[in-house]
Amino acid sequence: MRGFEFVQPKSLGEAVALLDTDDPTVRAHSGGTALMLMMKTGVFAPSLLVGLQAVEERHGQIEATMDGGLRIGAMASLTTVEHSADVARVAPVVVRAMKRLANTRVRNVARMGGNLAHGDPHMDLPPVLSALRGEVSTLGPKGSRRIAIENLFAGYYETVLQRGELIADVIIPSQAGWSSAYLKCTTKTSDDWPALGVAASLHLNGDRIVDARVMISAATDKLTRVAGAEAELRGGKADAATFARAAEVAAIGVETIDDARGSAIYKTELVRVYVRRALAEIMTGRSST
Ligand SMILES: Cc1cc2nc3c(=O)[nH]c(=O)nc-3n(C[C@H](O)[C@H](O)[C@H](O)COP(=O)(O)OP(=O)(O)OC[C@H]3O[C@@H](n4cnc5c(N)ncnc54)[C@H](O)[C@@H]3O)c2cc1C
Repeated sequence: MRGFEFVQPKSLGEAVALLDTDDPTVRAHSGGTALMLMMKTGVFAPSLLVGLQAVEERHGQIEATMDGGLRIGAMASLTTVEHSADVARVAPVVVRAMKRLANTRVRNVARMGGNLAHGDPHMDLPPVLSALRGEVSTLGPKGSRRIAIENLFAGYYETVLQRGELIADVIIPSQAGWSSAYLKCTTKTSDDWPALGVAASLHLNGDRIVDARVMISAATDKLTRVAGAEAELRGGKADAATFARAAEVAAIGVETIDDARGSAIYKTELVRVYVRRALAEIMTGRSST
């Protein structure tokens, strides 16, 4: 591994200033779990890593917001999120998703900001957080802005973050009236990266679906919102027939990709099965709580 510099600025603003450069070998480092793999395999050789550890005190907290939602600092570790009472109360689907995300050692080190900014379509949190209508707030050379997580990804390992722009917080709105589920299908070991991730949220009034969100990851080249399936669900009865119709629309509408975890055709079949199961799981979760 080539030598590199490692600095730990005291504020996010200082980090942004250091990262505002044309040099693609200068990168932010939060947990380093993704970066270190890339460095060890020679995919990435940094000249400078800007470590965000010194801003963790300020940007690693989780707080319940006045409107019933959550604000999660980008430097919160995945373990901190997994064990947060506020997250369990407002968005229990996030806690459930963590149980099958990598392993304890990775979750102890990896940070929310790194998980979202890496742009890997196999990550578990982007579909879950966008089904919850989550956003990130960012700080960059041009100031701060909010980006819906469903719009954060531009392509395979690509985000819409600009040069020097850092994720500061993840914001999840109140989930009042909404229930959610996340299912991950692995085709190798159970703790492997998913061949498919499906996150779904339903806003229900009795057995009527007022609104719906359906997100697909891993089987596609980037996080994909399945608007057709959502339209099929909206206004319908929350039953097996409606869920099967929505799953069919998802299977027809989503462009899946071939990779080591299965062919595109196989993944289309997974979409058909897992969208239906995720929607059914929402109803099971509601009746058991
Ligand atoms: C063995 C193993 C198994 C895994 N299994 C899974 C799994 O099943 N599911 C899953 O979802 N993930 C899995 N992961 C991936 C893991 O979740 C990610 O590596 C991790 O979330 C990245 O976070 P990090 O803080 O370590 O990021 P880093 O490695 O520090 O950074 C990743 C990227 O994000 C950028 N970055 C970091 N912080 C910010 C910020 N605040 N703003 C903007 N850019 C930033 C960095 O410059 C870099 O480009 C696995 C990882 C390993 C090593």
